[in-house]
Amino acid sequence: MANVALVHVLDSIDSLSESVNAANRGFLPRRPTIVVGQPTTIDSSRAPEGAGLLWIQLQEVPRVIRGDLAAEITHTGDWSTQVRDQYAQRIIDQLQPHIANISSAQTGKMVLGPADLESLNVNLVGGDPYSGDCRIDQYALWRPLRLANGHNTGVKGLWQIGASTHPGPGLGGGSGYLVAKRLRERRR
Ligand SMILES: Cc1cc2nc3c(=O)[nH]c(=O)nc-3n(C[C@H](O)[C@H](O)[C@H](O)COP(=O)(O)OP(=O)(O)OC[C@H]3O[C@@H](n4cnc5c(N)ncnc54)[C@H](O)[C@@H]3O)c2cc1C
Repeated sequence: MANVALVHVLDSIDSLSESVNAANRGFLPRRPTIVVGQPTTIDSSRAPEGAGLLWIQLQEVPRVIRGDLAAEITHTGDWSTQVRDQYAQRIIDQLQPHIANISSAQTGKMVLGPADLESLNVNLVGGDPYSGDCRIDQYALWRPLRLANGHNTGVKGLWQIGASTHPGPGLGGGSGYLVAKRLRERRR
C-alpha cells in the first residue's frame, strides 16, 4: 500500500452506506470512508528526503451539521475550528491500525472544512469538491438543459467549459473535450 498513490480506507460496504446516509442527513459519520493520497509516490519532491506527506479527503461530510452519529462531537451547526479538529482526530484514530506511527511521526497538519474549501475556490459551493452538486440528476446525460446551446456562450468565438458545465466535473475534462471536438468538426 505504501506505493499506491490513492487508497480508500473503509470498514465495509455497511460503513459506506451508513456514512453516505449520515452525511446526507446532516450527521458527521461515525466510520467515514477515508481517501488517503500519498503524493510522494508520484512526486518525491513534495516532501523532504526521509519525510512523508498524507493528503486526506473525506467525501461524506455534511455542509451544515445537525449532529454527530458517534455522539462525541458537540457543535453549533457550523464547521468551527474545534469541530474540524475533533473530526480530523477521528480520522487519524481510524487510520491508526493501518499506519502505526501516524500520530508519533506527525510534524504538522492542516485541516480544511467545507467553508474553508469554498473560501479558497468559489466554485466549490458548500465545500463540494465537484463544484456544488454531483447528484445523478446533475451529471452527464441527466444534467438539466444539457442541449440548450452546448458550450457556446452566444458571443462569437467564446466557449465556456469547466466543472460547472455539461457533462459535469472531474479530471476527465469532458467539457473541454466536447468543445474541442465541435471546433474540429467546424473546421472540416
Ligand atoms: C480535493 C479535490 C479532489 C478531487 N478529486 C477528484 C478525483 O479523484 N477525480 C476526479 O475526476 N475529479 C476530482 N476532483 C474534481 C476535479 O478536480 C474538478 O472537477 C476539475 O479540476 C474541474 O476542472 P475545471 O477546469 O473546471 O477547474 P479547475 O481545475 O479548478 O481549473 C480552473 C483554473 O482556473 C484558474 N483561475 C481561476 N480564476 C482565474 C482567473 N481569474 N484568471 C486566470 N486563471 C484563473 C485556477 O487557478 C485553475 O487553475 C477533485 C476536486 C478536489 C477539490
